[in-house]
Amino acid sequence: MAKCWICNGDLPLTGEHKFKASLLRKGYGKKYKNEDSLYLIKNGQPKEEERIESYKSPLVKFENSICADCNNAKTDPHDNSFDQFMSYIESNYHLLLEQQNLNFESIFQLDWLTQKRNLFKYLAKIIGCKLQSINKESPLNELSNFIIEDLTPYRFNIKFELNEGVHYLYQSAKINNKNYYHLYYGSTTYYVNRKHDMSFGGWVSFQWITVHWIFSSYIKSSIKDNLSSSCSSLKIKSINDCKSFINMTPLEIVEEIETSSRENQQKRYKHCMQMEDEKYL
Ligand SMILES: [Zn+2]
Repeated sequence: MAKCWICNGDLPLTGEHKFKASLLRKGYGKKYKNEDSLYLIKNGQPKEEERIESYKSPLVKFENSICADCNNAKTDPHDNSFDQFMSYIESNYHLLLEQQNLNFESIFQLDWLTQKRNLFKYLAKIIGCKLQSINKESPLNELSNFIIEDLTPYRFNIKFELNEGVHYLYQSAKINNKNYYHLYYGSTTYYVNRKHDMSFGGWVSFQWITVHWIFSSYIKSSIKDNLSSSCSSLKIKSINDCKSFINMTPLEIVEEIETSSRENQQKRYKHCMQMEDEKYL
């Protein structure tokens, strides 16, 4: 039987939500009726048969790869720190745009150091589940040791970005008395080098904050410095980098906002990894 990738235990496996159930409920409600259906969107194409009926749908979960204990009790404090992070970023868009950094003392107050680690552990959990669903051979020990033993990983790092375009969609909806809630997974990039070491990179967006992640032996800047710093820089993804939205469908606009100026994504991840002689898969 497959084992839980976090604790290596034999208990029955469950599927972690791709986005927290509480976020899905907050953004879209509990049940999605026909007239305002939600669809799982892959490669920019909504598929009729992949209609999402509620936040409990298997379509909003990763495949089963962690036990219930790791999904719930063991990672509860990490989930809670993520909730606190989300409520801060949702209330402070203009401040974040102005400061161009995330101040974790402001977000978490006195115990920011622990809570920042918890936030990163939450991100390590969902990214680990994503990697596990892509490649069963992904060496995730460092992520599980980080989540359970609090050991700082060396193959993993995160950078934050603020996406002006998402806030534009949010404001445009608000003007029309509508609600727009943005949750998005970017595609995962893989590399393998001559030594057959695999590196992965990708991004995930929660409203206007995008988390770029890399998982690689060839990371230039250490997560150790990132974790111990009370501020993390926030790169601004300008709406001016997008093409004109005229004649675009709503879905095309979302895709444009997420992927414009990311055609050089490979280059960006390579910049974060000291890759040599790698091959893009
Ligand atoms: Zn487990």
